[in-house]
Amino acid sequence: MGKIYKTLILNDEVSLCVLDTTDIVNKAIYYHNPTPVCAAALGRTLTATVFMGSTLKNEDDRLSVTISGDGIGGHIVTACDSNLNVRGMIDNPSADLPLKENGKLDVGGLVGKGYMTVVRTADIGEPYVGRCHLVSGEIAEDFAAYYAYSEQQPTAMALGVLIGTDGKCLGAGGVVLQIMPGCSEESISKAEEIINQFSNLSEMLENIGGKGICDKYFGEYAFTEYNTEYKCNCSKDYIDGVLLTIGKDELLQTLKTEGKVEVCCHFCNKKYVYLSDDVEKLFSNEK
Ligand SMILES: [Zn+2]
Repeated sequence: MGKIYKTLILNDEVSLCVLDTTDIVNKAIYYHNPTPVCAAALGRTLTATVFMGSTLKNEDDRLSVTISGDGIGGHIVTACDSNLNVRGMIDNPSADLPLKENGKLDVGGLVGKGYMTVVRTADIGEPYVGRCHLVSGEIAEDFAAYYAYSEQQPTAMALGVLIGTDGKCLGAGGVVLQIMPGCSEESISKAEEIINQFSNLSEMLENIGGKGICDKYFGEYAFTEYNTEYKCNCSKDYIDGVLLTIGKDELLQTLKTEGKVEVCCHFCNKKYVYLSDDVEKLFSNEK
């Protein structure tokens, strides 16, 4: 289970969110078996997506994020709902790069240049689509830029994912500050000082966790706490819908050559198998 801690700081002029997503990143590693650099890229994106999800207002609201870079990792796709169930995938989880000169994982190199797209969906009305160029591919800067350009919301974000030698995540999470309207210059510069304290965030998360960061750095504030987890919402109904759009002819062709139609969920690896009878039944219900 991941944790989110939220409060207002600096005379209620700045909102603070501390995220501990270690468990979420480990679930993603379990499903996707990524290289450390892919785990870091996906883990950072999942963490930022959970933060975005925590700002959804209504029960049925949900969002998806696509990081479309030209690097060897391919696209990263994540999604989160208002209950803070998050899921994600990276196109090429086995892509690998040498460490950077400073010994850090080269997430920016893995992601490359391109853009990110955020789609916010509610049950009523058209989805809201926001898009902006990637700044560095390091994810935190890219999300901060997205908030600045697409949502006119000044945001400072630190994200960290620490991967151990066994490929497991030792610590992952984020610290996000957002400037409220009418915020004083003094609070803005203090917010900058605060975010600069978290350049080694992943090690801090490994050592003291998200709760420990709240207590150690923001002990005077009262936080509201939320749970979040890696959970896929794929279902047979959803896959039925996908197959209906593919069409019966193509499915019959697959049945002929493969003996079955097998669909694997990109987010949780769950397999959905359709035999001849299932395909017939699927299309007999079609109105
Ligand atoms: Zn799934």
